[in-house]
Amino acid sequence: MSHPNSNDTSSMRIKGAASALLKGGTLVSEPCPKCGGVQVRLAGKTSCVNCGSETILNQEEKDKPSSSLKSLATTDTTLQDSAMIVEKKIFELASALRDETDTAIQRQKVELLETYLRILEKMRGLSSK
Ligand SMILES: [Zn+2]
Repeated sequence: MSHPNSNDTSSMRIKGAASALLKGGTLVSEPCPKCGGVQVRLAGKTSCVNCGSETILNQEEKDKPSSSLKSLATTDTTLQDSAMIVEKKIFELASALRDETDTAIQRQKVELLETYLRILEKMRGLSSK
């Protein structure tokens, strides 16, 4: 089994996404329009974890969360449920990390966060086929 996505670039993207989450960023439920990868939103900017494509959101789009629901409806339900559990974990982990002062524990949590992001990315990749 080969894993074409697990190269250095993608691991850098995932680290970037993890650090964006730590700065108060949120995971976007909509997959990347270019590659279907996981996107992270921070300060009105959406960055794709997979291909690094960035989108600056205008005010109007930010006020319309319904657009993300539309794309979720087209994905497989079971896979979507699993992805939501992973997303919930990521959110929990990210907020726990913000309050964590012990750097050793921070490191562990960041690694776990990266793992979750990878899992989520794979799930989204499967559901977009
Ligand atoms: Zn992308």
